[in-house]
Amino acid sequence: MSTYFPLSHDELVSLIKRFPTPFYLYDEKAIRENMRAFTKSFSMFPIFREHFAVKALPNPYILKILADEGCGTDCSSLAELVLSKTAGITGERIMFTSNETPASEYQYAFECGAIINMDDISHIDFLKNALSGKLPDTLCFRYNPGALKKGGNEIIGKPEEAKYGLTREQIFSAYEKCKSEGVKHFGLHTMVASNELNPDFFIDTADILFDLCVEIKNLLGIKIEFVDLGGGIGIPYKVEQKAVDLDYVASGIKKLYDKKIVPNDLSPLGIYWECGRPITGPYGYLVARAIHEKHIWREYIGVDASMADLMRPGMYGAYHEITVSGKEHMPKECVYDIVGSLCENCDKFAVQRKLPKISIGDILIIHDAGAHGRAMGFNYNGKLRCGELLLREDRSVVEIRRRETLDDYFATLNMEGVQSFR
Ligand SMILES: *Cc1c(COP(=O)(O)O)cnc(C)c1O
Repeated sequence: MSTYFPLSHDELVSLIKRFPTPFYLYDEKAIRENMRAFTKSFSMFPIFREHFAVKALPNPYILKILADEGCGTDCSSLAELVLSKTAGITGERIMFTSNETPASEYQYAFECGAIINMDDISHIDFLKNALSGKLPDTLCFRYNPGALKKGGNEIIGKPEEAKYGLTREQIFSAYEKCKSEGVKHFGLHTMVASNELNPDFFIDTADILFDLCVEIKNLLGIKIEFVDLGGGIGIPYKVEQKAVDLDYVASGIKKLYDKKIVPNDLSPLGIYWECGRPITGPYGYLVARAIHEKHIWREYIGVDASMADLMRPGMYGAYHEITVSGKEHMPKECVYDIVGSLCENCDKFAVQRKLPKISIGDILIIHDAGAHGRAMGFNYNGKLRCGELLLREDRSVVEIRRRETLDDYFATLNMEGVQSFR
């Protein structure tokens, strides 16, 4: 799957005549089909909802497509809340899973009717103050299982070293306090993985949360109404990796649900996710053109995109498959570093990668860039971020974000003021 591209070479060449490289291209049909498959896998639960993590692909056109497929959103900032609202997603379809949150953002989330998911026990009083003395009817808490949960990886770290969530003791006190303050509906959240491909990890996470729901009911008489399993479902960036089998995950969670939730009179318990990466990741591409080649101690191909457009390889050493349009079937007889124009040596989309012989002018497709791609872009070195295109189901292409201009870059500077500045 990870070397598939939805346009033929000729289609891509003619698209580039309208929209010069570099750009992101998202495949609407594939995103919709994927979302339907995701929903179908969890259809055995009485209440299920995916809240797309806006940070993965913060474009309201994409959010609208996902809303049309039944998704809500997971937001963690004011801008993400505004994007959700713009796409028509409001109320309890929004999970507000934030941390170190300013009071003004809690207020806006509350006005949107979002479910506020709190990151610390001290945030109960903070939220109450922000909302003029009254807590919302519904609240959720983020649980940090600490060393109880084995795992973690280089992106999120070990739970006991992660800044997120409440400890076990705090979780009980938090629900008790909120109940006494009149909160009526409760959710329980955790997220302890990022880009995890082992399906058992997620069944295990549900198991921890289900046990906690039972304990909370027995100890405090509070019936948790939904569990939010967070995000963290990985995607196969490498051809030899296997996608997480969601049917397997769902049926594993269902077994635990029948064993622990049903007999404890906790059903119907909502099963929520807030995934970003597995929803859009594989269906977005960064398209760039080879504009330089140099032959020194290594062979380099310089492209017109940079780490400012896609920082994952530079930041985490993340692997993204790269194909050369029109050369998909040619032998991979060369070894290149594929580099961008930033004055940082980590600005490499690929390091010592076997690829077909690349000529200047060739179009390179960087795969699996549909999540945490354009979203993580930045302007260091005066780089202007590229735009975003959407391949519609009827195969027309629309620009859903234009590329940045110099005026955008200078918009926050008073350039005229400099003339008279002494
Ligand atoms: C980043 C994040 C997500 C989404 O993670 P993916 O790996 O994109 O699925 C969900 N919830 C929270 C709280 C996050 O921080």
